[in-house]
Amino acid sequence: MTVPLPEARGLVCVEDVVARTDVPPFTNSAMDGYAVRFADTMGASTARPVLLRVVGAVAAGEPPSCAVEPGGAVRIMTGAVLPEGADAVVRFEETADLSGEQEPSGRVALLRAAKHHDNVRLMGEDIAIGAVAIPAGSVLQAAHLGLLASLGYVKVVVHRRPRVGILSTGNEVVAAVNQLAAGQIRDSNSVTLAALVEDAGGVPVHLGVVRDEIAPLRRSLQSAVEEHRVDLLITSGGVSVGDYDMVKDALQAQGDVALWQVRIKPGKPMAFGMLNHVPLLGLPGNPVAAAVSFLQFGRPAIRRMLGYAEIVLPRVIATLVADIDNRGSRRHYVRVRLEADGTGGYRAVPVGEQGAGILSSLALADGLLVVPEEFVVARAGMRLPVELLHDRLPRL
Ligand code: AMP
Ligand code: MG
Repeated sequence: MTVPLPEARGLVCVEDVVARTDVPPFTNSAMDGYAVRFADTMGASTARPVLLRVVGAVAAGEPPSCAVEPGGAVRIMTGAVLPEGADAVVRFEETADLSGEQEPSGRVALLRAAKHHDNVRLMGEDIAIGAVAIPAGSVLQAAHLGLLASLGYVKVVVHRRPRVGILSTGNEVVAAVNQLAAGQIRDSNSVTLAALVEDAGGVPVHLGVVRDEIAPLRRSLQSAVEEHRVDLLITSGGVSVGDYDMVKDALQAQGDVALWQVRIKPGKPMAFGMLNHVPLLGLPGNPVAAAVSFLQFGRPAIRRMLGYAEIVLPRVIATLVADIDNRGSRRHYVRVRLEADGTGGYRAVPVGEQGAGILSSLALADGLLVVPEEFVVARAGMRLPVELLHDRLPRL
C-alpha cells in the first residue's frame, strides 16, 4: 500500500528506496565564513595572517554571483552553494575584522590555514544518487521519513495495518457505558485489547459484546469476516471448560480449531483457528489473561502482518527480589515493577495480586517477568527476562 509520509511512521518499507537525487543536491558550505582556495591559505596564523580580496557574498538559497579566483574570497553563509573555484571555507571565527574592510570588495585576514574541503559539504555525501537510501524491511521512523522527504518522495510503499476485530463474549458482560444490573460486569477487555492492538500497529475494529449462545456468536464471527473484513479476529471469554463457553464450538462449526490451551499463566484457556482464511485468537475472559495472551500471540501476529522482523516484546534482564511459586509447568508471566538496582541494572519487584482477573496490578506493572515453565520456583536473586509493557524504563 502506498501512503503519504506522515502516515508511514512505524510501518515497514516494502521495497528498497533508491535515491533519485544526491543529498545534498549541491556542494555547499557547512559554516558561515569565507569560501576560499585552500592553497591560498597556506601558512596563515594569528601572527602572520593571510589577506585575501573579498569579491562578493553568497547566501543560502541563491546562486553564487561570482567565482573564487586565486587570491580571492567570497563571504558565504551556511547552506549556500560553494562558488566555482573555491575548495574550502574558513569560519568567521578564524578571520579577523579588518575594521570596515570586511565588506565585499574589501579584504579579509585569515588566521588559520585551511585544508582541502574544510567546512565543505560535498554533493551526495549524505546519500549518493542511485544508492539504496532505505532498504526493504526497514521500520520507518522519524529519520527515515526525513530522508524520504530530502529525496523528494512524498509517498512510500508500506505493509498496510491489519484490521483486527475485537469481540467480547459473555451473558454477564455489558458495554462499559451501561449501568449494571445484578450479576453484570462492564466490558473492559475490548477497551484494553483495542489499545494493545493499536500499540502493536493494528487497526482495532470494535465488534461489541455477544451472548454465550452459539447462533449469535456464529453470526458475529461471520459478520466480522464478511462485512468488517478483518484480517485477524480476537475474541475474549468463552474458551474455557464452562457450560457456556461456546467460542471453540462456533469456530469448529465455521472453520478449524488449530489449537486449544497453552501452557502459560495467566492465559491457559486460549484457542486458535482459522475462519475463512482469517486467523482467530480466542483469548480467555479474565482481563489479565486476555492481555497477557494477546501480548504473547496477538501482538506477534500483528507485527508479522506489518512486516516486522522483530515481533516479540522488548525485554531487559532484571534481578527478581522475591520467590515466585511456579508449580504446574506453565510459563509464568509475573507483573513486576522495575527499579534501578544501583549498579547499572534493574530489579524486578512483583506488584499486587497476581490473579488472572486482577487488572489493577497490570496497571501498576512496567513489565512481565518470565518464569520458564520448567522452574518449580523462581528464587529471589535470580536474573530473569522482563518483557516491557511500555516504551519507558526507570532511570538507571
Ligand atoms: P470466561 O473465560 O468467559 O469464563 O470469563 C472469565 C472471567 O472473565 C469471568 O469472570 C468473566 O466475567 C470475565 N470476563 C469475560 N469477558 C470479560 C470482559 N470483556 N471484560 C471484563 N471481564 C470479562
Ligand atoms: Mg464467559
